[in-house]
Order: sequence, then C-alpha cells, then structure tokens
Amino acid sequence: MRFFSTRNKQDNVSFAAAALSGLAPDGGLFVPQEIPQYTAAVRSSLGTMGYCDVAFETIKPYVAGDIPDSVLEDIVHSAYPFSAPLVTVGDRMVLELFHGPTAAFKDFGARFMARAFSYLRRGEQKPLRILVATSGDTGGAVADGFFEVPGISVTVLYPKGRVTPLQERQIAGLGGNISAIAVEGSFDDCQRLVKAALGDENLRKRMDLSSANSINISRLIPQSVYYAAAAGKAFAGLTDPGGEATPKAKGEGWNMEGGGWRVNTNAADLRARAGQPAILTVPSGNFGNLTAGLYAMKMGAPVKQFIAATNINKTVPDFLVSGDYQPRDSQATISNAMDVGAPSNFERMAAHFSWEEMRRIILGVYISDEETRRTIHDVHQHYGYFIDPHTAVGWNGTDKLLAEKQIEAGPAAILSTAHPAKFSETVEPITGKIPVPVSLSKTMERKVDSKTIPAEVSAFMEMLY
Ligand SMILES: *Cc1c(COP(=O)(O)O)cnc(C)c1O
Repeated sequence: MRFFSTRNKQDNVSFAAAALSGLAPDGGLFVPQEIPQYTAAVRSSLGTMGYCDVAFETIKPYVAGDIPDSVLEDIVHSAYPFSAPLVTVGDRMVLELFHGPTAAFKDFGARFMARAFSYLRRGEQKPLRILVATSGDTGGAVADGFFEVPGISVTVLYPKGRVTPLQERQIAGLGGNISAIAVEGSFDDCQRLVKAALGDENLRKRMDLSSANSINISRLIPQSVYYAAAAGKAFAGLTDPGGEATPKAKGEGWNMEGGGWRVNTNAADLRARAGQPAILTVPSGNFGNLTAGLYAMKMGAPVKQFIAATNINKTVPDFLVSGDYQPRDSQATISNAMDVGAPSNFERMAAHFSWEEMRRIILGVYISDEETRRTIHDVHQHYGYFIDPHTAVGWNGTDKLLAEKQIEAGPAAILSTAHPAKFSETVEPITGKIPVPVSLSKTMERKVDSKTIPAEVSAFMEMLY
C-alpha cells in the first residue's frame, strides 16, 4: 500500500516511510491511497475470529510490501496478549478497550507501532531514540509499548507534579530502554523541548530521532481492528463474558465460574438484533480513534453509524452541524484526555470524506462535566458497573441522541477508552472504591526513577548528548 500526504496527493510513500517519518514533509498527515476491502469470507467471520486473526486480516493490506505475512503474524501475537471484550451492561454493549498494560485504548496503537518500528529498522546501525512529550496518558502507552524493544530507546518528558501517581509509575517505573524526565514546567514546555531536540542537526548526526506522536499512521491502523471485531460480534448477536476489571452488581446472570461477572446478558434481546449493523459511540479528543473506526467501516465492517461524543471541546460536533470548521483553544474538563480544541486527525477525516458524507455517517454530541459526573453515578447505581469520565461522555451522548430520536434503538456499543481506576480521583468520590485490576496494582508497586530538569532547552540537550 502507498500513502500520501493530506496536503499533496501527487507524491506517495511506502508504509515504512510513512510510519517512520510520522508527519509528511509538507506538514500533512499520511493517509492510505485507498481503503482496502475485507474479502467476503473474512467479512462474514469477523465476529467469530480470534482478536489476532482480525488484526492480521485488517492490517495486512496496509503493510503489504513492507512487512511479510509471517512477521505480521508474530507482531500481532506479541502485541495483543489481551483483547477487546464486547460486554453487555443493561441494554447497552460496552467495548472495553482498557485490558492492555496501561489500561487505556492507546495500548492498541502503541504496541503495534513499537513492534512495527523494530522490524522496519532491522539492520540499522544507528540507534533510534524516540522523544515523547506527554500530559499523562500517551507517555505511559508509548513507554510500555517500546519497553524492551531492541534497537530503540524512549525518552518521555512529563510536567513534574502534574501527572497522577499511577501515570508517573507507568512513565518512569519501567527502566531499561525507557528514560523519564520530569520537567519543571507545563506540558507545553515539554513539547517545546522535544521540538527543539528534533530540530538539532548535531544531535541527529549521532542518533536517529523520532517522535511517536498520535498522528502516526502506524498507531491509527491497528485501532481499526477492535471496531471490526466488535461490529462483527454485534452483527452475529454475540458478546463476551463480563470484563474482569470492572465487576458488575451481583444479580441475574451472576457467574463466577465463567471467570467473569455478568448481569442481564439479555441473550434473547441480542439475538433479536443479530443481522443489524451497530451504532458505535466514540469518546473523542484528537479524533484518531474515530478515524480508525471510519477506516474499519470502509473496509466492510458492519457499522451503521458513529456517534462522536466530546466534552465541551466540541469543535467537531459544531462542524457537523454547520459545515464550518473552527479550531479553538482547549478548555479543561474532567475527561481531560479529550481536552482538544484543534483535533489533529480532522485533516485526515476531511481527506476521505466531504461534510455531507460525514454528516450521514457521524452524529456529533457534547457533554458537560456535570452530566459526565451524573452518568458515572447513574450507571454505577443501576448496573454496579464503573465507568471512567471519558466513557461516561460516550454513554451520556448515546442517551441524548436516543432520547432525541436522532438514532434508532438497535445494537449500540459504547467504546470504553480507559479503566475507571485510572481516573479514581474523579470516579471514587461518586461511586466509592473501584476494584483495581492486577496490572494497575502491580504498576503502583514500581519505583519512580526520573531526572528532574528545568524547562530549558540547554538542560534537555545536556541529557541527550
Ligand atoms: C486519548 C484518549 C481519548 C481520545 O482519543 P482520540 O483518538 O484522541 O480522539 C479518549 N479517552 C481516553 C481515555 C484517552 O486516553
């Protein structure tokens, strides 16, 4: 597959070049020349294939020519020892994307990217150093994804004292090829230092530098996989046993032997919905996740529509109404991984779809912090199910559109983008103690090892040389 820049459709590059360079030289984002199609055989078995098989079939056409099938097979199996269960909660389905090591959906992209980079750079003599500035979530997923990947080291910069204790352990508790720098400043300072280092010619002579940021196409493509798997399951009238990490209330369907908790599986209800494409709600910030969903739909996954649910940073919902794209400064909310006023992946969406097409496929909705808190409370009270603030935005957005009859009742699934224990400061005052999954409690035992520097380019350079 060839990829071109959203700003120049003439020149195109291989998957390897697009992935390793991240951003196109003209400042655009790489997009595939065409969106491939699932074969009829794959399409009809998406709901019953194993996660790694769906991953292999989904990613294969994009990397054809750069990653041989046998290598891709190894990469997906090594990247995904966990999967994305589609569970029922009341009359809803929830696609739990938090079963990876850092308990947020970014693990799906970061783990594939790390392994793809390692393969694509085989035989390179110069070491690759990846620089990441993070406000919290991305740094942990990238650090974890690249941990112990040969030939690559990662330096994560985070604002000192402004990430949660859990996030700090995800970023600065791994050691090995991952180093962490606590910057005495803000996230913007961290970004400024990374940009300065990436532009330093002398440094580049000594090592290859890259910034594994969220617009990298190799992080986006593997995110299409869980959409295809989930849409396939919903279409087949299937769901997975309850997620282990967020126990639901004891009650009808309670099942310890199955290794999980189930409530209200409504099997008859689900079967009645089989054969209908699903409506999928995506809590959105930079819109990388939703773009990956659009790719899955174009490939042939049985999706009817998407709901783009944002907090008050509602640039895209506004665009869907007016057709006028107005990026703006971001505002702080309790769903802070979605505090984005100028979503970088919008350029990618606009490269594939006109406003009219987007309006047909995507429904926009935005939710206040107060509504988010109330939803966390109500879902816990009714179902004994804990959701994080980002998932709550998706849940309430779905409620709103159903109440306004903008969507029809039918198979509907909400993407749960993070484990609620990651945001316990917000969730626990509302719900009480959240059961913490083993991966997170183990992470809390790690020792933080980071170097503190002032927010000055010279101090950062000294560390890198
Ligand atoms: C990154 C993130 C989002 C937003 O995803 P985008 O792809 O930027 O739209 C939503 N929820 C959580 C928990 C995240 O970490």
